[in-house]
Amino acid sequence: MAETLFDKIINREIQADIVYEDDQCLAFKDINPQAPVHFLVIPKKRIATINDIEPEDRELVGHLFLVAAKVAQEMGFSEKGYRTVMNCNDDGGQSVYHIHLHVLAGKPLGWPPYTDRPKQV
Ligand code: 5GP
Repeated sequence: MAETLFDKIINREIQADIVYEDDQCLAFKDINPQAPVHFLVIPKKRIATINDIEPEDRELVGHLFLVAAKVAQEMGFSEKGYRTVMNCNDDGGQSVYHIHLHVLAGKPLGWPPYTDRPKQV
C-alpha cells in the first residue's frame, strides 16, 4: 500500500503532538479535534483499512486498544469515559488510508455518532 501522511508522522517528517509511542504504535493529537480530547492511535505497520487486517495482526490491533486505555488513564479521563472509533473506507468516513483508532473524550458525546454526509459533486 502507498505511504500516507501518517508514515511521515511516524518518521518525524511531519510534526505532530505525540502523546505515546512504543515499538508497535504511535498516538498523537488529531489536527482537527472533534472533542476537547481527540487523539489517534496508529500501528507503525502500514495497514490501509480494517478490511486489510490479517489474522497475524490481531495482537497489534488489540494493542491499539490497550494503548488507548493506558493513555486515557494517564490523561485522567478513563473513569468519566471516552469513545473509540475506527472508520473504514468512504462511507465510513475514512480519509487517511492507514488504520487509526480515534479516541474522543472531555465531554458527554452524542449517540448515535453519525450525521448524514452530503454526496460529493
Ligand atoms: P479518518 O477521517 O481517516 O477517520 O481520520 C483521519 C484523521 O486524521 C482526521 O480526524 C484528521 O483530522 C486527522 N489528520 C489529518 N491530517 C493530519 C495531520 O497532518 N496531523 C494530524 N495530527 N492529524 C491529521
